[in-house]
Amino acid sequence: MTMKKLIAGNWKMNGGLAANEVLLRALLAQIGAPAADVAVCAPAPYLAQLQSLLQGGPVAWGSQDVSAHEQGAYTGEVSVAMLRDFGCRYAIVGHSERRQYHGETDAVVAAKAQRALAGGVTPIVCVGEMLAEREAGQTEAVVKRQLAAVIHAVAHCTSEIVVAYEPVWAIGTGKTATPEQAQQVHAVLRAQLAAATAHPERVRILYGGSMNAANAASLLAQPDIDGGLIGGASLKAPDFLQIVAAAH
Ligand code: PEP
Repeated sequence: MTMKKLIAGNWKMNGGLAANEVLLRALLAQIGAPAADVAVCAPAPYLAQLQSLLQGGPVAWGSQDVSAHEQGAYTGEVSVAMLRDFGCRYAIVGHSERRQYHGETDAVVAAKAQRALAGGVTPIVCVGEMLAEREAGQTEAVVKRQLAAVIHAVAHCTSEIVVAYEPVWAIGTGKTATPEQAQQVHAVLRAQLAAATAHPERVRILYGGSMNAANAASLLAQPDIDGGLIGGASLKAPDFLQIVAAAH
């Protein structure tokens, strides 16, 4: 059985009630019955809006982060139970912006992934090398280290995660990894998953990093690219819809 591809939008810290509604209504009006699974990951305050507009339709939704803790004295954090209250299917964890600007370590990212799974939300685990690491020939070592921490934490649930390979130098820069560069890393991640789970083909490995309407098809044609995590282009309905259409 081949898995459906997954196209997930990461709105980052963008949007507002009015703009979100325009975007979501445009998506719903034109998306039809997509061949791929589709989701949008919004800032936490808008999850109730997503739930009310998207419930029962073809677009799932998720958060951009989740607390590593279950509940309690963690000011500013959002728990997985709260995400579930608002119907989230996915939570992005370990996005490079969280690692870079919020000091998230591999251990923290792993704890978040584990907490999400335990609470019934699928973590979209982001891994990816910085430009200096790529130039130093460390790409494989970096992504394997990042994924290993998560596999160690989630153990027998490894087949339930989603992985997103997002080279940091490609995020929001307009510099996309070539399909061959991306496939090479995806194959490494697939092999690592194969050592940890009997069904590595069930784990979707998304590519993220300046994926857009023009380059999506060639990236998604690679054997180990099972979808996309889309930042900038997910804020424009026509662009996001074209990426969705390219995923089959
Ligand atoms: C992202 O933030 O996950 C991302 C891939 O961003 P962009 O598509 O804008 O590069």
